[in-house]
Amino acid sequence: MAVTTAPQILVTNTLTRRKEPLKSLDPGGKKIGMYACGVTVYDDCHIGHGMQAIFFDVIRRYLEFCGYQVTYVRNFTDVDDKIIDRAKQRGMSPAKLAQDMIDSSDRDMAAIGVKPADHQPRVSEMIPQIITMIQELIRNEAAYATKSGDVYYRVRRKSDYGKLSGRNPDELRTGTRELIQGDKEDPLDFALWKNDDEPDASWDSPWGLGRPGWHIECSAMSKEFLGNSFEIHGGGRDLVFPHHENEIAQSESANKAPYAACWMHCGLLTIDRQKMSKSLGNHITIQDFLKSWSPEVLRLGILQYHYGSNVDFSKSVFQQCHRRLLYFYETLDLLGQMVADGGASATDLASTSSHWLFADFHKAMSDDFNTAAALGALNKSMKAARELISGKKSPPKIIESSQLLNGIKEVAQVLGLFEAEPKVATRDLKMRLLPELGITEGEIQAAIQRRADARAARDFAAADAARGELLTRGIELRDGTQETQWTVRYTEE
Ligand SMILES: [Zn+2]
Repeated sequence: MAVTTAPQILVTNTLTRRKEPLKSLDPGGKKIGMYACGVTVYDDCHIGHGMQAIFFDVIRRYLEFCGYQVTYVRNFTDVDDKIIDRAKQRGMSPAKLAQDMIDSSDRDMAAIGVKPADHQPRVSEMIPQIITMIQELIRNEAAYATKSGDVYYRVRRKSDYGKLSGRNPDELRTGTRELIQGDKEDPLDFALWKNDDEPDASWDSPWGLGRPGWHIECSAMSKEFLGNSFEIHGGGRDLVFPHHENEIAQSESANKAPYAACWMHCGLLTIDRQKMSKSLGNHITIQDFLKSWSPEVLRLGILQYHYGSNVDFSKSVFQQCHRRLLYFYETLDLLGQMVADGGASATDLASTSSHWLFADFHKAMSDDFNTAAALGALNKSMKAARELISGKKSPPKIIESSQLLNGIKEVAQVLGLFEAEPKVATRDLKMRLLPELGITEGEIQAAIQRRADARAARDFAAADAARGELLTRGIELRDGTQETQWTVRYTEE
């Protein structure tokens, strides 16, 4: 249930370098336009792409939870040198390779619980809009076409160029390593349109056959779906310069209106403190990740960080997240059993929105989408659940359990967690840990049987020994009213 009075959300804005209140530009105050730069589709997505997609997915879910009507746009760059080169290596057309990789990306994102954006435009479908915007830039003297059929943006004409990245054009000039000057007026000028006749990756334009430069696509796409000015623009920190700086320059020169009000940048991902790269052998695609781990392990691992922090992953981080997820799911399973056994119907209950969990959750998320602190609130609720489960069952406790369960489910939905059925997920997570512990379920069941037989024979020393043997191998037993259940030992948070 979304709250009726949304909290004031504070966001760190790269443009102003301040944490400031997020404001809807809509007179009704309810609409938020959000644009995030998507992937260049020449290869399968890696977990770094997954990280950025998950952060913006959660930001969008939280805004909707607070009652905002969000229009989320995430593009596919399907026209690019990398796509053309890779397609040549594979002896296929760039358009076919891009389509395959878009399909692959859609599958990967669905697998890790990222909801599709409201609009997922592709460059190849936006060529008319891109050409119109370039023509407008030329009309405004912010851009010029060269004899060879290229079009460049005039960086020095924009007096506040550099306002996002904090770089000024004079510093840039000395730092620029332009090997090919071509017929640019100034080495700082960047391409809006490149003369090219690549089959399947070039289009007719007023300047001849060619294709758009990289930056112009996002300016044209955001305008198409969100208008000249909108609330949030996001992307990885590595896109601040030149990509986002150039987007601002293009859009503001063409539209004569301010571009995105708030710029949000995600940190970068490293594996074992190294940048992910195929040559280092630490490159992890989403598909590879899912061969070893549950998708929610990735989400939990990512949400332990604030979106703006750099994230470092390693196998041990995934192992910890896996166990933490098991603890969460098992708690939910036990809590659900308690509610079901107590006969309380979740739908009979009064509003849970006043629950402390919601207060803690909003406090965390409204402070610059602090998912790390939000997970802290979730942890606290799991602890409370464990206390309820291990305590004496009474009607008020059953009601409390039911409210807590509902609260956890609602909060988890915003984070995109616990989307599986708790009993199924608990079993799956436990079973995945057994090879690591070097034990099979058959061995566990045999020890449980030995213990039960020993107890029946009142040989308590033998019963304790069977239990102790399992414990040393990392397996804990829990006696229920009907049967004894086993779980993998983890440290409770
Ligand atoms: Zn972009």
